[in-house]
Amino acid sequence: VAGLMEGKRGLIMGLANDKSIAWGIAQALHAQGARLAISHQGGPLEKRVRPLAESVGATTHECDVGDGASLDALFAELKDQWGGLDFVVHAIGFSDKSELRGRYVETSAANFRSTMDISVYSFTAICQRAAPLMTDGGSLLTLTYYGSEKVMPHYNVMGVAKAALEASVRYIAEDLGRDGIRCNAISAGTIKTLAASGIGDFRYILKWNENNAPLRRTVTQEEVGKSALYLLSDLGSAVTGEVIHVDAGYHVVGMKNPEAPDM
Ligand code: NAD
Repeated sequence: VAGLMEGKRGLIMGLANDKSIAWGIAQALHAQGARLAISHQGGPLEKRVRPLAESVGATTHECDVGDGASLDALFAELKDQWGGLDFVVHAIGFSDKSELRGRYVETSAANFRSTMDISVYSFTAICQRAAPLMTDGGSLLTLTYYGSEKVMPHYNVMGVAKAALEASVRYIAEDLGRDGIRCNAISAGTIKTLAASGIGDFRYILKWNENNAPLRRTVTQEEVGKSALYLLSDLGSAVTGEVIHVDAGYHVVGMKNPEAPDM
């Protein structure tokens, strides 16, 4: 199939570099004819993001999702640029690295609040602003992780945040469904990205997934991109409020694979 995203205009948020999940998604959508706008956090990221964005014909925009005025400015720019919007991808998460190790129970109030603000509320704030531009229906997508459902080493406050993010996907799906706007999450398997390298023992976690997932491997940004394409295109037209695991099946496993090497 080609041209699945022909005529669709969308925003991708959370591109840091060519390892970002947002990049896998941007490439999959571009290959199917989507028109893209890419936002980044600004600062030193800008010089990495700009050439990537240009290579997929995307406009670039600076936006700190912790700042309502910055979000307002971004959506005003998109309204000027296109007049409307068909999809948004939210591939953003943040927590203080020092709390992505050790015990969850030690989480500080300040980091709990900022993790929830950047990793959970920002998606709701984005949907609020995107929905009025989606006059012909639309599709909203965020990224989550299995640490929302089960305790994963070092994921801590981020696991609590992802559980809240997944719940917000369901509420947003209900609120916006009547306007033909769908809202879903992809629960991605572990991928070595900038954000992931902040998590304690990440290499061990990657290896564990590879040894124990039904497909006996980890997943790639490109594979997350393909599932995003399904949810953002007409192929996913009846799918909303869903959390789809794109994790080589890891979430169905109840026990270590007895044939896996000792770690
Ligand atoms: P990444 O580091 O490439 O992307 C994270 C992005 O969040 C960066 O672009 C960063 O600039 C952005 N960001 C953080 N704070 C921001 C702010 N205040 N304003 C604007 N942008 C901000 O890492 P990634 O792994 O591609 O992460 C994308 C999403 O995927 C995150 O939600 C992450 O939790 C999720 N995820 C990652 C994995 C994995 O193993 N890498 C697995 C499942 C889910």
